[in-house]
Amino acid sequence: MITHHPDTELLLDYATGALTEPMALSVACHASLCKACASELKRLEALGGTLLEQSDKAQMDATSLNAVLNRLDDPEPEPLRPSAQFDAESLRVLPMPLRDYLPASLEALNWRHIGSKVSQYNLDLHVGNYKISLMRFKAGSAQPIHTHKGQEITLVLTGGYTDQGHHFEVGDFDLKDTRHKHQPVVDSGEDCYALVVMDAPVVLAGPFSRFLNPFIKL
Ligand SMILES: [Zn+2]
Repeated sequence: MITHHPDTELLLDYATGALTEPMALSVACHASLCKACASELKRLEALGGTLLEQSDKAQMDATSLNAVLNRLDDPEPEPLRPSAQFDAESLRVLPMPLRDYLPASLEALNWRHIGSKVSQYNLDLHVGNYKISLMRFKAGSAQPIHTHKGQEITLVLTGGYTDQGHHFEVGDFDLKDTRHKHQPVVDSGEDCYALVVMDAPVVLAGPFSRFLNPFIKL
């Protein structure tokens, strides 16, 4: 059961289109797995639409209205990336909004291996300092202790993990920032795929951090 959700401010920013694309992707993926947030987003979007209509009525003259109507007649723009054909395992793991960002099924992706327990695939999405990755953590593994210079969002896609006494499972939206020093421990039984969105690098905090740092450029 999903117990960790984006807060209302994030949902509102998503509904009003105020989020950056990486943040919006993480919220969209969560909402595709979470009925509660999907319906809350619908409510907020309807609310936003009503507010926009009211202000538009006051501002929009005939000329701008015509411009909008003309635009509505334009053909649909081509999708940015053609949807790859995915195998059954990828369709099981990947929420719908994430599929457009991947060129191939999971096994065919160009994974980077960080030690024997973690694999990382960086999405071809470049916005500011954001790093957007699909991660695969081996079942039963403990991650290095680390903290953050910024925000880190982890959206669990398969399996789960325990972190600071909280358990995170499929669909959970885990937002950490500079206040958190943590060491997630992955559930045994199934590898944990996760979408990870960071707006600043990870800082390792354990005894081997100086040794490990060059390898863990997450
Ligand atoms: Zn939710």
